[in-house]
Amino acid sequence: MNAFENAMRQLDLVTQIIPEQAIAIEMLRHPERIVDVEFPVAMDDGSTRYFHGYRVQWNSSRGPCKGGIRFHEQVEMDEVKALSFWMTIKCAVAGIPYGGGKGGVTIDPKKFSKAEVERVMRGFTRRIADVIGSDKDIPAPDVNTTSPLMDALADEYAKVTGKQDLAVVTGKSLTNGGSEGRATATGQGAFYVFQAYAARLEKPVEETEVVVQGFGNAGQAIAMLFEQAGYKVVGLSDSQGGIFAEAGLSIAEVLKHKGATGSVVGFAGSKTVTQEELLTLPCDVLCPSALENQLTKDVVPRVQAKIVLELANGPTTPEGDQVLFERGITVIPDVLANSGGVTVSYYEWYQNKHNEHWVEADVFTRLAKDMKDAADAIQATASKYNITQRQAAFVLAVERIGEASKGK
Ligand code: NAD
Repeated sequence: MNAFENAMRQLDLVTQIIPEQAIAIEMLRHPERIVDVEFPVAMDDGSTRYFHGYRVQWNSSRGPCKGGIRFHEQVEMDEVKALSFWMTIKCAVAGIPYGGGKGGVTIDPKKFSKAEVERVMRGFTRRIADVIGSDKDIPAPDVNTTSPLMDALADEYAKVTGKQDLAVVTGKSLTNGGSEGRATATGQGAFYVFQAYAARLEKPVEETEVVVQGFGNAGQAIAMLFEQAGYKVVGLSDSQGGIFAEAGLSIAEVLKHKGATGSVVGFAGSKTVTQEELLTLPCDVLCPSALENQLTKDVVPRVQAKIVLELANGPTTPEGDQVLFERGITVIPDVLANSGGVTVSYYEWYQNKHNEHWVEADVFTRLAKDMKDAADAIQATASKYNITQRQAAFVLAVERIGEASKGK
């Protein structure tokens, strides 16, 4: 099943729960606009190469479309469609006034120089300049696209349109209109969401054990936040393998070790475990923060955590989800758990629009409130219908989108 079929299946599950939203559900099966472009880019050696890119605007009932631009060799239309659909759900779950969109360029950026990759972003921007805009569709970073590329997008957009509009894109560098706190927003948001569920563990903080799969942007931030709050992080992994230490790991020391050796594996005092062993370690909270399709029906019967906090997008398969629900394990779904990133993107857009610059403490105070409100609303919906947290997130999103689309 590809990502798009998976997304539509998640929507199907909602149909039976809220049949009165049939019109909104049918609307959410269809994108508003799909843009499919090819564009030339000058290579460093003087040759010209054509690239293929996509921008999908799934739904704008709640506001301008919002979603990142991914640079990856496997980018294709169905993936971008699925991601733009999920952004529509995520923005509604987070309660921010946006619809959903997503873009991508089929490219392996490692095979090109930094200057060539920047020209690819500029070429793509020229092709999509007439469909994006701070009140229409606002791109952001995604896999392999970082702040300097967002700065390039803003600059190219200004050149093509003759308008200086920083709010056309988020995830910019701080010197170019970016927001404080954006770099750790996803981890920070996930931690606030977790706090709204933490009472379910019925355990003191210092005895609560946490395992994090993936030690990149999202994984490092969440591991650090759990440690700072007094939790015991007992397991970590990256693409090279996993580590386990019953007494707890020092995240700052693991970071140093990874900096020196390229991996968490081999950290002094830890035991090396396989990726699968990591997911089934004894712990209270498991945070998949790496890839999709990790918690499959084969692995989930052995998961020992009581809460799964999904920082990655799509880490649990639909079959895995069902088994976890039957086993009484709470899965805090990606569309809620990792929505801190897009929420701070919204703050960046707002600051640009109002010519403001908030200090980091203000950003996180607002984020804490917005994440708690979103988590509380989803828990209430899950209890009301006796459904999973993921189904509740979809129900809430569909209801909000349905309400916003009335009369449009
Ligand atoms: P990243 O590239 O910074 O980090 C990914 C980490 O996963 C790396 O440590 C890598 O070594 C590890 N990894 C790769 N393959 C692995 C494997 N087989 N087993 C264990 N670890 C493996 O990426 P990121 O930005 O941290 O994103 C991680 C996930 O979080 C993705 O699903 C992404 O879509 C999602 N997410 C990130 C953000 C954000 O703001 N960074 C926002 C929303 C969602």
